[in-house]
Amino acid sequence: MIKCPRCGKDVSSRPGTICPRCGLKVSEVTSKARCPEPSCRAIVSKKLEYCPKCGCKLKGYNFTEIIKMARCKIDETFDNKE
Ligand SMILES: [Zn+2]
Ligand SMILES: [Zn+2]
Repeated sequence: MIKCPRCGKDVSSRPGTICPRCGLKVSEVTSKARCPEPSCRAIVSKKLEYCPKCGCKLKGYNFTEIIKMARCKIDETFDNKE
C-alpha cells in the first residue's frame, strides 16, 4: 500500500491504480523513471519535467521534435549534394 499523494488515502501500489477517494491516477504520479543522463541516472518521478539532480530534461524530445530534427538532417544532406 502507498498513500495517495493528493488526499493521503491508502491505495494499492499496483500499476493503473486510481485513488477511490479523489480519483487521482496514483500509479502515474508515483511511477519512477531513470534520468536519461548517463552520468546521473537518478531515479526521479515521471511527473517531473526536469531531473532534480542534474537538471536535464526528462521528458526528452517529443515526436514532432524528432521528426523536425530528422527533416533538418535530410535537408542538410540535400544541400551538401549541390
Ligand atoms: Zn486520493
Ligand atoms: Zn539527472
